Amino acid sequence: MTCELVGPLEAAEINAQVDRLLRDLGQPEPPLSLELVRELLRLDLKYYSATNTSYLQDLTHKIRLGAKQVAARPGLIFDAIKKAKLAALYVPDTKRILIDEDIPQPKHRWIEAHEISHGLIEWHSDFLFGDNRVTLNPLCDATIEAEANYGGGRLLFLGERFGEEARSEELSFKNIRQQAGRYGNSIQSTLWRVVEEREPDGAVFGMVSDHPNHPEIGQIEYGGKPRLIRSRGFREQFGNVTPDDVYAILAKHANWNKGGPIIEADDSLVDVNGDTHEIRVESFSNTHSLLTYGVCTRPKSVVVST
Ligand SMILES: [Zn+2]
Repeated sequence: MTCELVGPLEAAEINAQVDRLLRDLGQPEPPLSLELVRELLRLDLKYYSATNTSYLQDLTHKIRLGAKQVAARPGLIFDAIKKAKLAALYVPDTKRILIDEDIPQPKHRWIEAHEISHGLIEWHSDFLFGDNRVTLNPLCDATIEAEANYGGGRLLFLGERFGEEARSEELSFKNIRQQAGRYGNSIQSTLWRVVEEREPDGAVFGMVSDHPNHPEIGQIEYGGKPRLIRSRGFREQFGNVTPDDVYAILAKHANWNKGGPIIEADDSLVDVNGDTHEIRVESFSNTHSLLTYGVCTRPKSVVVST
């Protein structure tokens, strides 16, 4: 239920804000309409581009892009935004979300939820956030951005509802893809929420990486640095397991297909106590990166009574 980079107190506060919002919306059915969320919160969404910098004219005060402060005419601010490779901004003064028109449409939903979340989280209200591809990745490890991603995830997956639903269904990519469709979210963000929320105390991991047999798939973002997502239970029991350990298992089992199912295999992992456990691993390629989950299927000492 909590995310690795978000402290338990912060997670509880973010959950409370998201739950209140969902209540005010009348506990909507998935997929959540972000338009209704914006309406309720009186947030404004606008797009900017080189040919339309009018909404950037609000940014007359200094804006912070990374470590640099920029105070300039709108034209120059646009250049600075481009140079910092920003995809979106949240401007607290005007409660406005600004998205770069050139960002592909399928990414807008996640970006919007992330920016809404900056607006919801009280201790973010003093900042003007400029977000790039790194900060908008659910696996970003800067705390404040992880908080915005966590809030965005809780919002798009309707608070507690997603975890409960996921628990009632078997863990498989078939179900993850169906859940993604039902909630209108990406398969990657659905995998992330499944690993953390389906069974927090079970030993479950997720991985987003390149494809071992087609390194061009996932190369730019994940080549050489596979990202590991862990349930609370996995973190405790397999704190010794590194992203490279998991990736080595993927390299062993991956087939040569570029898209679709890539791995369905059984393997094993050694836990912090040196005990070996069987795991089931399944991978799926969406042709942008390789998505994997693994689950501990046979803990070493299980007493079965009939
Ligand atoms: Zn952000």
